[in-house]
Amino acid sequence: MMGSNYAYRKTFSLKAAAALFLCVLSVTAFTACSARKAPPARTCISFDTVCTINAYDAGTDALYDACEARLNELEQVFSAHISTSDVCRINDAAGDHPVKVSVEVFTVLKTARGFAEKSGGAFDPTIGPLVSLWGIGTEHEKVPSEDEIAAARALVNWKLLSLDEEAGTAFLEKEGMALDLGGIAKGFAADEIASVLKDAGVSSALVDLGGNVYVIGSRPAESGKSASGDGTGVAERKWRVGVKNPFKPEEGAALRVDVADTSVVTSGNYERYFEKDGVRYHHIINPETGWPAESGLVSCTIIDSSSLKADVLSTAVFVLGKDKGLELLEREGVEGVCISLDGSVSVSSNMQTQIKTLSDSLRL
Ligand code: AMP
Ligand code: MG
Repeated sequence: MMGSNYAYRKTFSLKAAAALFLCVLSVTAFTACSARKAPPARTCISFDTVCTINAYDAGTDALYDACEARLNELEQVFSAHISTSDVCRINDAAGDHPVKVSVEVFTVLKTARGFAEKSGGAFDPTIGPLVSLWGIGTEHEKVPSEDEIAAARALVNWKLLSLDEEAGTAFLEKEGMALDLGGIAKGFAADEIASVLKDAGVSSALVDLGGNVYVIGSRPAESGKSASGDGTGVAERKWRVGVKNPFKPEEGAALRVDVADTSVVTSGNYERYFEKDGVRYHHIINPETGWPAESGLVSCTIIDSSSLKADVLSTAVFVLGKDKGLELLEREGVEGVCISLDGSVSVSSNMQTQIKTLSDSLRL
């Protein structure tokens, strides 16, 4: 049962892969590296998205296989579509009994709960009933009635997610509640893949899980140049990570952030949405209203050495909006960039020098 369900989803995903590649990738890495491609970077489908891992010179088939195996292992416990996953088992047991979960899922749930509290509920891991109701990106996407929204909202409440550290269990206290970790799980997975690579001694690599980017070390030197052959030291050769233009996502990067050894994660209203009567309904839901968040932001990019933290914060800040969002980032000591509906770009305190505008439609 689980097998066939999963196989169907994989087939669907693979068919959609080519189309998804451009739409889902919210952060594009500019790498100056050219020649060294033996073996080439690994691209696979996991977490319902296109994942790319490039360890350049240090890349081997065995290493890429290990990364892919870890991704698939994680998908098996985090997926909301695989009936035997920890997430599905917790959802099935809502209102009835606590469920023993993997250490990985417990860690993510604890972080999710912590940031639900810190964001005043803007990030809510129990958003499942609202995500299912809107069905954005699925065949049954629709604008629900206010009654349907009210009914789903009554089932969304992170305070009713209880976690028992000693027993390693998670429990949704009300029947009908459902977890959705779509706003945080890929961040955890990116950290895990970065660990696999670092444990293997890789000192320069790029991990891109559908726009959830992790860069290890600094950019490899361009072929034909020594590590600092262009006159800059290794420390100067930062990765140049592009942030898509949220107004014209098909055109590529509008901002560039120069970073080393960190994660860059974007949430945007262009990533998954449908339009009806000229209105765009996107996939990031404000738990307070039950409607797609209208915070004045069109995208929000977070930079942090923990991709888990960057992912949860990208979603939280998108819901909170520029002012409250940047306040949260300052409190957390995390850097980020918000793009507003009017094209203005707002950054956290230490980002000013690390960011470049590449498009006239944005104002820094
Ligand atoms: P991201 O692209 O990281 O911002 O994640 C968006 C995904 O997170 C959505 O597709 C939903 O699966 C889930 N989600 C939507 N709204 C919220 C929310 N307010 N809190 C937590 N997760 C959410
Ligand atoms: Mg997120």
